Amino acid sequence: MATQAPILADQDQIALYEPVIGLEVHVQLGTNTKIFCSCPNEFGAAPNTNVCPVCLGMPGALPVLNEHAVELAVQASLALHCEVRNRSIFARKNSFYPDLPPGYQISQYDPPVAEHGWVDIQLPSGETKRIGVTRLHMEDDAGKSTHDGYRDSSQYSYVDLNRTGSPLAEIVSEPDMRSSDEAFQYLTELKLAMQFTGVSNCDMEKGNLRCDANVSVRRKGAEKFGTKVEIKNLNSFRFLKQAIDFEIARQVGVLEAGGTIVQETRLYNPDLDETFSMRSKEMAHDYRYFPEPDLVPLEISDDWLAKVKAAMGELPADMRKRFVDEQGLREYDAQVLTATRALADYYEQTAKACGDPKAAANWVTGDLAALLKAAGKEIEDSPVSPQGLGELLGLIASGELTGKLAKEILPKMFSTGDAARAIMEREGLKAMSDTGELEKIIEGIIAANPKQVEQYKGGKTSVIQFFVGQAMKATRGQANPAAVGEILKQKLG
Ligand code: ADP
Ligand code: ZN
Ligand code: MG
Repeated sequence: MATQAPILADQDQIALYEPVIGLEVHVQLGTNTKIFCSCPNEFGAAPNTNVCPVCLGMPGALPVLNEHAVELAVQASLALHCEVRNRSIFARKNSFYPDLPPGYQISQYDPPVAEHGWVDIQLPSGETKRIGVTRLHMEDDAGKSTHDGYRDSSQYSYVDLNRTGSPLAEIVSEPDMRSSDEAFQYLTELKLAMQFTGVSNCDMEKGNLRCDANVSVRRKGAEKFGTKVEIKNLNSFRFLKQAIDFEIARQVGVLEAGGTIVQETRLYNPDLDETFSMRSKEMAHDYRYFPEPDLVPLEISDDWLAKVKAAMGELPADMRKRFVDEQGLREYDAQVLTATRALADYYEQTAKACGDPKAAANWVTGDLAALLKAAGKEIEDSPVSPQGLGELLGLIASGELTGKLAKEILPKMFSTGDAARAIMEREGLKAMSDTGELEKIIEGIIAANPKQVEQYKGGKTSVIQFFVGQAMKATRGQANPAAVGEILKQKLG
């Protein structure tokens, strides 16, 4: 393997070229069992315990297609606006690796279960760009080889076959992306779509979302694509972006030095922030694809498709639109609240509990988000439940609490797990409802500040803020600021 450091292009050289990027994304489908056998589809079990003759590829063991895997693959296809085919077939994709005991993967080649979809991404300019999805096909996963981390790793590699036969959807994009940012955006939207519809948790640490990036460059204005290089197994969003940027600089460097790009598969080394050659790219004929003789074609009826569609979770883009159109949220808040399924669910439950979507959005993205951030917690682990926050907001709406008091109570709910009402009662915090008492306090403040009264009467009406502040202080935040304002205007006016 060549170890010579590549000569990277500088920014001026890079500016002469246009990158072209297409992604191949593997999503592990969240079934209970594997795609062709009844072994558990789970992460973290003791090595080689979730295996059987089928997923071990024993001669004569026959695969049986898992209907739930098809259901999830179809939902993934619909989430990506693909056309689901009524008929597709499985094919053997042959290759020889120690972690692939049958010597082939069962995949779909031609035709796949779904084609011709798209994902919309947001450009920094605010515009929307549509990235084409060429195809989605189902396949089984390989096992895992471990080359280091064991005492005798210098001599041996270990193989764990628990993952062999886990159901995957491979999603192939058109070469429509023109920067690492666009690739990042595309993967973000794709992941959200998979999570919202419940197809996959897309946990990258568990390898449930894996991405290969195909990258080429061409002179600006050129029509023909350059030769592409495939970067395999990018297992984080940051690495995806870094690997693409490195690859663009490397390829432009090669071309500017008069060289040519070799079509190959490369790997990304995050420690060096470099890609390096793994193998020259195999062509489809190297895989000797042929129809899988042990499985009948996959037939999907329109009725079944309609049922699967109806059972599917809402798409993030549709949810955003609903939050704006039906619940009156700002576009920005709708965007923030749909960053994850868990956050969106939390918000919706809070809104339902208090009946005020805007207040729910403000508190979830504001005070609650700040408390979570400070505690290093995710919304899933919030000590305050949506019902609990909803109750707090309900107390503001009914006038029992002021916003200011609620802001004091929420951190206490967060740290103790107690309900808003319990904290209110324990600490004697409640909005002042007795207007007689409030009037008396305000009269006292007016009497004590003749200078400000003078100014107000002289036309400087902004002094009213001074009086409101004094009243809030005197009541320890328990007065309703609107009521205070009313009474002040009356008494001063
Ligand atoms: P292969 O036959 O090598 O698998 P495909 O045409 O099937 O190639 O494309 C695989 C992926 O590479 C797709 O995501 C596609 O969008 C992308 N791709 C194809 N040609 C290019 C190119 N010239 N530059 C960048 N990406 C490309
Ligand atoms: Zn099995
Ligand atoms: Mg291909």
